[in-house]
Amino acid sequence: MCAGEFHPSRPEQPREFALPEAYPTMQILYPFAGPVAEYFTQLDNPDRYRPDQCPQCQAKQPLTAHGFYTRTLIDSAFDGCIRVRRYLCEVCRRTVSLLPEFALPYLRSSVTVIALFLMARLFLGKTLKEALLPAAPYQRGQSWVRRFRAHAESLSAALSALIPPPPAPDFVARALTMLHTTGWIPAHRFLFAGLRHHLLGWPGSLIPDGRRVTIPPAATTG
Ligand SMILES: [Zn+2]
Repeated sequence: MCAGEFHPSRPEQPREFALPEAYPTMQILYPFAGPVAEYFTQLDNPDRYRPDQCPQCQAKQPLTAHGFYTRTLIDSAFDGCIRVRRYLCEVCRRTVSLLPEFALPYLRSSVTVIALFLMARLFLGKTLKEALLPAAPYQRGQSWVRRFRAHAESLSAALSALIPPPPAPDFVARALTMLHTTGWIPAHRFLFAGLRHHLLGWPGSLIPDGRRVTIPPAATTG
């Protein structure tokens, strides 16, 4: 487990992040869509993607670099810890973290891993075992399917701002087709950055936009 994760996995969703304490910050997207290995080489310069205003209090003042937290990430060719850069707003004293576009809030697996699984399982009709990465527990796949089914209708509606909804037998098929046509990462960028919409739906405690109702101020040390 990486430093910065505070709670053990919940048994019904093996190896997913506990909520909501694992990320006591607002997450916005780091505009980087390349491979994981390339992300590491770009992280050390805090100026590169420094937000020039606060997305929480809207103060028009560049945010201050505020270290990193680490989280795990499972991608097709990577399974380990990544650093996520944080910034502090000196006006409201809250932090913002810059999540790379290949990662989803609160899920260990990358957008690509989840996309390949959902297409294999729900579009091509493969079994859970066939659709998952070899070492992945089947409960993880079941959880993704459950969340995607519950969220498919609102996902289709949101994506209709990008492309016309295609004819499809149900919302799951429609949403999958729209995601596939748009590209999962561009669709995730549009949904998350523009609408605060999570590809698999926000966990219940963070509805509607991924933020808790009250956000504690950032610690001034550490
Ligand atoms: Zn602020």
